[in-house]
Amino acid sequence: MENLIQSWKQRSSNSRKAQKKFIRHLEQYRGKHLDTLADEIHEEVFSKVNCLDCANCCTSIPPIVNKTDTARIAKELGMKPAAFAEKYLTVDEDNDTVMNQSPCPFLLENNECFIYAFRPKACREYPHTNNREFSKNLSYHAPNAMYCPAVFYILEEMKKRVP
Ligand code: SF4
Ligand code: SF4
Repeated sequence: MENLIQSWKQRSSNSRKAQKKFIRHLEQYRGKHLDTLADEIHEEVFSKVNCLDCANCCTSIPPIVNKTDTARIAKELGMKPAAFAEKYLTVDEDNDTVMNQSPCPFLLENNECFIYAFRPKACREYPHTNNREFSKNLSYHAPNAMYCPAVFYILEEMKKRVP
């Protein structure tokens, strides 16, 4: 597992252009069939890549925290939503409300998430490669392959299975 993550670090920085080109190639296949294939490959890759050996998303991409997330997390932490927002949230350059620190303030030393059971929707859905949502999120996958080893390996596997 460690080796997969190590080799992703070496390979991903050299493959940015190729990943972008492959995503453009995939445009023609957008839809149900591609999403079914992506779901299959997502499962295969995540059976080999353990997020607890990685946590790169939690250390490098502040997640969007919407109003529903804020209300839910604040309630679970026994805080008022406004107090939670004041302490943990900020508005980024895209005008999205996100966690105000990177690494995320809820990431523990062992790479577990302190608020895992009630984490933001964006964290639950990342890296947007399964649940029949691969095509819808096509433009995210090349940039995400630079942050997420699983996305990198999903695209590498997809290259072998898409004409
Ligand atoms: S809330 Fe949890 S899953 Fe989301 S970025 Fe923070 S540590 Fe990671
Ligand atoms: S970057 Fe990808 S593989 Fe790493 S913890 Fe996040 S989702 Fe898991």
